[in-house]
Amino acid sequence: MFRNTVRQFIQAELVPCQSRWREQHRPDVDAFTKAGALSLLLPDISEEYEGGGGTFAHEAVVLEELARAGVQFGASVQSIVAHYVVTYGTEQQKRRWLPPMARGELIGAIAMTEPSAGSDLQGIRTSAWREGDDYIINGSKTFITNALLAGLVCLAVKTDTKATGPKGISLICVETKDLAGYRVGKPLEKIGRNGHDTCEVFFDNVRVPASNFLGATEGKGVFQMMNILVYERLSVAVAAIAAAEQAVTITTQYVKDRTVAGQSLMDYQNTRTVLAKCKTEAQVGRVFLDSCIERFINNQLDPVTAAMAKYWSTERECRIIDDCVQLHGGYGYMSEYLIARMWVDSRVERIYAGTNEIMLELIASSL
Ligand SMILES: Cc1cc2nc3c(=O)[nH]c(=O)nc-3n(C[C@H](O)[C@H](O)[C@H](O)COP(=O)(O)OP(=O)(O)OC[C@H]3O[C@@H](n4cnc5c(N)ncnc54)[C@H](O)[C@@H]3O)c2cc1C
Repeated sequence: MFRNTVRQFIQAELVPCQSRWREQHRPDVDAFTKAGALSLLLPDISEEYEGGGGTFAHEAVVLEELARAGVQFGASVQSIVAHYVVTYGTEQQKRRWLPPMARGELIGAIAMTEPSAGSDLQGIRTSAWREGDDYIINGSKTFITNALLAGLVCLAVKTDTKATGPKGISLICVETKDLAGYRVGKPLEKIGRNGHDTCEVFFDNVRVPASNFLGATEGKGVFQMMNILVYERLSVAVAAIAAAEQAVTITTQYVKDRTVAGQSLMDYQNTRTVLAKCKTEAQVGRVFLDSCIERFINNQLDPVTAAMAKYWSTERECRIIDDCVQLHGGYGYMSEYLIARMWVDSRVERIYAGTNEIMLELIASSL
């Protein structure tokens, strides 16, 4: 029932807006409030905070349906930010931010990456120093999804600029409305995923109340991010496997309908072999992914296994979609075709939420 609601909402409200969103490089803000009204945002957050009261299985349904429809929407980032608040926020912070996030009235962004610190998160320079009851923030972040619409930015900062390594990094939630010294750049020109915005954000002596600090003590930011990155990486894996399955489905239909030299494309042995391999890999991925989802719901998904899921599923997804583009011939290169859009949109999944090379480093550390 939940999947049907999500699917109908996506088809009725989001699919028709996609080409316009891609042109304007961001979703319409009312997409969030419409999704919120149907309880489709924060499906795995407790009802106490107006979330859906479900588990990660519900979140996975939303991610899968978005991926299958090829829809770009910042709902996944919204959930990730909510999980930072749920896991590390005070009761007051949860009550202040989660209900408007669930209603789609407050949009979240997560800001870790800086121009000179992406994979090397410990090298961030954006600083926050304590002055009375406030923190004063200076620095900049880049590649921030949802930044244009975000009213709440979960920000990684250095609270101790002298500390090296992971020490000295903390998280603070920045409420951006009418905030002096805070500026968002124009949406960056990406090769794909233009249905939602990705921007630079700048902090020039931005004053944020100390009550917005996330966590009990300073210097725990890296640990906090590593913990929630398990959720984020699993979310990426869910979208990747759903996209891979969808690529196989739409390509199977395409090759059955397409006639080449008087013969259905499906009748060529190469077509069947390629699709058979793609289907097998997508199904193998599905079994591992479902096991990861189950482990996550039981609080048993460790960072190494989450890294394996993110790495493996996104590598296979890109390969499967590339094979499916090939089977579409020239039509596979036309943006009008879903498979072409999936091809450009999927590429970044090997880069964000930690690059796949970093995933392999993490996995290797367990050997
Ligand atoms: C569309 C998009 C949306 C994004 N959204 C967000 C967001 O909302 N919030 C946010 O904070 N960030 C976001 N990011 C940033 C993303 O997480 C980073 O781009 C990513 O972590 C890589 O960092 P980098 O771009 O600085 O690359 P670099 O760290 O410069 O990496 C360059 C290359 O070097 C490799 N490399 C780096 N270190 C190692 C190592 N130790 N061993 C082996 N290889 C290594 C990398 O794997 C990569 O291949 C987004 C990025 C994109 C493209």
